[in-house]
Amino acid sequence: MKTKGPKNPKKAMIYYYVAALVMLLFMNAFVFPRLMRGTVQEVSYNQFITDLEAGKVIAVQENDSESTITYKAQDDQGREHIYETAWVNDPDRVNRLLEATAPDGSAVEYSGVIPTQTSPLMNLLFGLVLPVLFMVVLGQLLLRFMMKKMGGPNAMSFGKSNAKIYVEAQTGKTFADVAGQEEAKEALAEIVDFLHNPSKYNSIGASLPKGALLVGPPGTGKTLLAKAVAGEAGVPFFSIAGSEFVEMFVGMGAARVRDLFKQASEKAPCIVFIDEIDTIGKSRDNAAGISGGNDEREQTLNQLLTEMDGFDGSKGVIILAATNRPETLDKALLRPGRFDRRIPVELPDLEGRAAILKVHAKKVMVDENVDFMAIARATSGASGAELANMVNEAALRAVKQNRRIVHQEDLMEAVETVIAGYQRKNKVLSPREKRIVAYHEIGHALVAAKQTNSAPVAKITIVPRTSGALGYTLQIPEEESNLMSREEAFNKIATYTGGRAAEELIFGSYTSGAANDIEQATRLARSMVTRMGMSKQFDMMALATVNSQYLGGDAALACSEGTAQKIDEEVLALIKSAHAKAVEILKDNMDKMHELAAFLMERETITGEEFMEILNRQPEGSTFS
Ligand code: ADP
Ligand code: MG
Ligand code: ZN
Repeated sequence: MKTKGPKNPKKAMIYYYVAALVMLLFMNAFVFPRLMRGTVQEVSYNQFITDLEAGKVIAVQENDSESTITYKAQDDQGREHIYETAWVNDPDRVNRLLEATAPDGSAVEYSGVIPTQTSPLMNLLFGLVLPVLFMVVLGQLLLRFMMKKMGGPNAMSFGKSNAKIYVEAQTGKTFADVAGQEEAKEALAEIVDFLHNPSKYNSIGASLPKGALLVGPPGTGKTLLAKAVAGEAGVPFFSIAGSEFVEMFVGMGAARVRDLFKQASEKAPCIVFIDEIDTIGKSRDNAAGISGGNDEREQTLNQLLTEMDGFDGSKGVIILAATNRPETLDKALLRPGRFDRRIPVELPDLEGRAAILKVHAKKVMVDENVDFMAIARATSGASGAELANMVNEAALRAVKQNRRIVHQEDLMEAVETVIAGYQRKNKVLSPREKRIVAYHEIGHALVAAKQTNSAPVAKITIVPRTSGALGYTLQIPEEESNLMSREEAFNKIATYTGGRAAEELIFGSYTSGAANDIEQATRLARSMVTRMGMSKQFDMMALATVNSQYLGGDAALACSEGTAQKIDEEVLALIKSAHAKAVEILKDNMDKMHELAAFLMERETITGEEFMEILNRQPEGSTFS
């Protein structure tokens, strides 16, 4: 911590008050008397003589040191004033004074001390009480301002920048707060044990890794895990975001790293958590080409490496860092003795999602019949943070409806809120649009329902969402599956094309409503060909590379131009045949399509059961048994 001046605000205030007191004494001794003198009127020596002879002067005082004469006289109205005039070498003055008389007829007082005009009480007030009050008030304001600048008791300011290191003496989080993530917790349990009992490790000569890297997509609980480690071990938790290191003046990043480690070793054992470490730890060879001005970041990184190498690992300072882009990290950071432990923190699976929902549901009043597995099944791919958000949204919905307890439907609605955006109550579809959207969605649902190996339809709605979707069909798989057969993939594409197929069959034309379906169908078809080895033409040849599973981007093609063209043809053929299959399915179920679309238009939202009930219902007067 290298703040300029006194570190402690209390100490600073003592300095301030001493300075204020000295100032006050100085003012009282020199400045105030002069100011008071401002009420003294300056007159010429002639005027003095005239006043004296006119019998107006009461008292006279000669100030040798200042070569002035002060005198008190009455004016024409009989009020007393103090006048001052220059001292003049007048040999007659003594005689004149002896001859003159005061207004009351007595002799003029000579060399006597002239009383000041202000009363002693006023003197005390202006000379002492008011200035002291003023300085105390100013001092308090100053103190408050300084405290604010320091960012409260938990954050310490560094240098002249505003970036902060946060210190929590106790995080209050434990592993019980982190649901799922069993492997990550197991890997971190060793660190907790070490912090509890370093001597056990030291006595045998074992030293723990100085740092561990938590790697995973955003919202999976990396920060939460780091806090839980500190909480479990009962040690202080220092945290700073990587971006805070680099956003300040040149040279500050490195200084901050030094300060961070200095503080941490004073508080050892403790946890130091560096979030978004990729912002400082970006690979140096990569970055050099992109922009030249990365000196600051590089210095910061070097300082971090130096500090990690320099400090004594047996003391109990453990550095945890988090990133969602491990592939961009500088190799030097990953060398032994630095962040040589890598702990994957993945998106939760079905069980994990149910567990996370339960952990967060403990904080709200939840109906005991709520089926968390059902919610978990509908939220494949959601992160812990999103699930936490869903529970909160559900509670908000219950409050809005004046209920004290969260029901299953609140949670289901919250799933859609978080996944698909809020319901747009004020956006109304025209009847024609509503008809198109209804047939489009029923198209998806029918194609899905009439294929084997396709996830059951859970809900169909034509209530628009803020995400822009005018309607959607929610399919929920009965179980988590990690493998997808070729048939399942193909059926999925057919289901995506089902919306457009229905529009074509019913209206003879189509709308822009299938844009998202087209994108998804194409992406799936493309990965069938290039990555999953599901085309006859290319067999098991790898045609694309995935740079990082966390980047979430599309795979890059890794093949010749001619092959790329053939891939496009293959993808198109796949989509076309899936589309044809969807059209066939819908043609075979025309009656049901009309019936279901009418029902959906009336209700706007229908459940999977209602959908299946109508689909399986035998037409009235049917001869089939
Ligand atoms: P990250 O640091 O990986 O981006 P966070 O630790 O900040 O994610 O998680 C954000 C929030 O999401 C947490 O505060 C917590 O409420 C919730 N959360 C995430 N993962 C979990 C989990 N495994 N168990 C319980 N809550 C979780
Ligand atoms: Mg985080
Ligand atoms: Zn669609």
